[in-house]
Amino acid sequence: MNPIELEQKYLVHAYNRPPFVLADGQGVWLEDTEGNRYLDLVAGIAVSALGYGDAEIAETICAAGQKPLHYSNLYHNEPMARLAARLVEITPFADRVHFQNSGTESTEAAMKFARKFARTHFGEGKTNIVAFTGAFHGRTMGALAATPREKYQKPYLPLMPGVRFARYNDIESAAAAIDDSVCAVILEPIQGEGGIHPAAEAFLVALRELTHQHNALLIFDEVQCGVGRTGAFWAHQHFGVLPDILCSAKPLANGLPIGAVLVTERVADVIHPGDHGTTFAGGPFVTSVANVVVDRISEPAFLAHVQETGAYFQQRLQDLGNPHITEVRGRGLMLGVQLDMPAAPVVQAGYKQGLLLLNAGADVLRLVPPLIISKDEIDTALDRLAATLAEVG
Ligand SMILES: *Cc1c(COP(=O)(O)O)cnc(C)c1O
Repeated sequence: MNPIELEQKYLVHAYNRPPFVLADGQGVWLEDTEGNRYLDLVAGIAVSALGYGDAEIAETICAAGQKPLHYSNLYHNEPMARLAARLVEITPFADRVHFQNSGTESTEAAMKFARKFARTHFGEGKTNIVAFTGAFHGRTMGALAATPREKYQKPYLPLMPGVRFARYNDIESAAAAIDDSVCAVILEPIQGEGGIHPAAEAFLVALRELTHQHNALLIFDEVQCGVGRTGAFWAHQHFGVLPDILCSAKPLANGLPIGAVLVTERVADVIHPGDHGTTFAGGPFVTSVANVVVDRISEPAFLAHVQETGAYFQQRLQDLGNPHITEVRGRGLMLGVQLDMPAAPVVQAGYKQGLLLLNAGADVLRLVPPLIISKDEIDTALDRLAATLAEVG
């Protein structure tokens, strides 16, 4: 049996995959087992920020692979310590870091820390969490409770209690939801899965004021929009509003599983040995690679490249004047193309044009290529996107 037949027979059918098998890649290009090449505007869902076949990543992996892969959190290790120090150094609000293995674990940790913070300082009863329409915070029971999509939640009820929802970018709705029973407000500064919706600056400013007023923590979920994706290292740095807790994951180790929660000293102060933990997180193999990612992406020249290519991509998408494109949103290389038709057939048609595309909701294309993409490659992507839209429309 070929890999597709094996998967169909032996994997739980929790995903629909296109009928080819990826086997290699270089830069922003992926290749299947038949030798077809795809220009990748997906990056494994905003993960492979440095693209494929990066020499420094490969060397780091070879060196780290010669050493023990795992010591556990029972012991110190140097790459983890260096990564924590580096993340704090480049993140103005943050004093300390706690590592996880995925995005959903980082939002779980953030919510647990917020509950413990409120319980420590304000006693029982301050346990509610406010999240927003269109949010995506992960698939585990707590994160899922803060992810208001019926399709994702309904089969698994009951979820974690104590989550309230307000409308994203609606200050009045947020003000109505945030009271003294709330321990934390969690949101994505730019929503990813929900359709690439940036927060309005005034909305973030209002949330910061409301959370101060009601002694609640502000959590930014930058699992998708963080680590250079928008042209700043963190997306919230475009807005001048600082959180108490920040969640990171997807691109932080360029494809190896990792999560990180960055916190202020005040938050860190309530967490003591044994309060929260996980077996694999912070291992030397993964954090060695994350150190390379953080060093490279935090370079001003790298971030300038993302700003420049992102602005170019957005402008050229607008200049296409395609009748099916009704709006282009987003920042840096996190772009949403609002279509006047369903996105799924466009994603399908892209494969035949050698283009990997991803939707975000029913009628939005989410363009989140490797951050190393060049203007020439963006030109190629636009030619292929135009051909794809022409075929579907
Ligand atoms: C993907 C994502 C998550 C969940 O990350 P996983 O690694 O899939 O658990 C959480 N928040 C946001 C904003 C995401 O995009």
